[in-house]
Amino acid sequence: MQHRPSLSPETLAAQALGDVDPLSGGLTPAINPSTNYEQQPDGSYRQDRVYTRADNPTYETAEGLLAALEGAGCACALFASGMAAATAVFQSLLPGDHVLVSRVLYWGVRKWLAEFALTWGLDVEFVDTTDLDALESAIRPGRTRLLWVETPANPMWEITDLVAVCELAHAAGVRVTVDNTVATPVHTRPLELGADLVVHSATKYLNGHSDVLAGAVLTARRDPFWERIRSWRRNAGAVLGPFEAWLLQRGMRTLFLRVRRASDSAMTIARHLQEHPALMAVLYPGLASHPGHEIAARQMRGGFGGMLSIRLTGGAEQAMAALAAVRVFKRATSLGGVESLIEHRRSQEGPSSPVPDDLLRLSIGIEAPEDLLADLDAALDAARRTAPAAAPPAQTLGS
Ligand code: PLP
Repeated sequence: MQHRPSLSPETLAAQALGDVDPLSGGLTPAINPSTNYEQQPDGSYRQDRVYTRADNPTYETAEGLLAALEGAGCACALFASGMAAATAVFQSLLPGDHVLVSRVLYWGVRKWLAEFALTWGLDVEFVDTTDLDALESAIRPGRTRLLWVETPANPMWEITDLVAVCELAHAAGVRVTVDNTVATPVHTRPLELGADLVVHSATKYLNGHSDVLAGAVLTARRDPFWERIRSWRRNAGAVLGPFEAWLLQRGMRTLFLRVRRASDSAMTIARHLQEHPALMAVLYPGLASHPGHEIAARQMRGGFGGMLSIRLTGGAEQAMAALAAVRVFKRATSLGGVESLIEHRRSQEGPSSPVPDDLLRLSIGIEAPEDLLADLDAALDAARRTAPAAAPPAQTLGS
């Protein structure tokens, strides 16, 4: 792969690293759907590839691009989903390992840890990673093997100071993994701030079109722990298909445009809503009122991301009424697509959810911001006038 380190990430993304297909001269990378590779008479393989569960050139195109965006020198492995990527990291730990995890984080990771970490032999402890004293006292030297941080963290958008937590963790020999799904490498490159591993739900901004399920793990070093993660993917088979990998590289080519647009619009919307009489809080790290704003301003370059949450003064009933009243926002789970989404997180997560029931989560897309603002204003006005009869929907696998 012709990686040119002097080029800016935007250029590398737009040109998918600038390689042309060596056979056809095509500017668009080919999809290689083959599941297996020919063995030579001497027993060797042309490019050391044997079977697609281990290696496929189409994965490597997307992996090379994402590695270039997250920081030169790192390595990347794609997975079948963000959850497959996240759990590959936990499953590469050993029974008895102590793991510290951000108290506020994507619900699916918390749920998986609650259901499976114990049977896997992991000793998982949730900690407020925005509180450095709490983190320091939770670290058990010699026993804590991993710190898992999500920032901005779903769905309150709490901000963890990555430089500070990496220093604390490394002083005790603890490896740091950052879920960078929400910030994306457009705003934050955790490996440059000291993290050892980065995880993505590539289903979100990286692909960006709500049509691919994928995940990724990136590492600062190709050490034995990385080899265990690679080995997990290969042997457990947590891979995506070549078509999905190809769509993912295509999505990443417009990553910067999409994420910057979403961040700019999210900032406009957050500022517009912050004094709204129907709201008791607007949670967005770009607002000076957000407790993590100063750290976010240091750690996030060029914007604060496209995710925000609003809390309604009228509680759950008004939240559900506003949800029912939107016309432009789509009522759907997930995030990071080109279309704006709104959801009532608590009813997606179910009764054990710690999310307040007056909260709506917004994923801002790339539509005209004035259409989004008008839609939210109208929905909030409608919510103040009417209390809905509809009960919250049953719990689903919201992401
Ligand atoms: N991490 C974060 C921050 C997420 O929001 C999600 C999904 O919403 C995941 C991980 C899991 O990703 P996937 O749905 O691709 O398995």
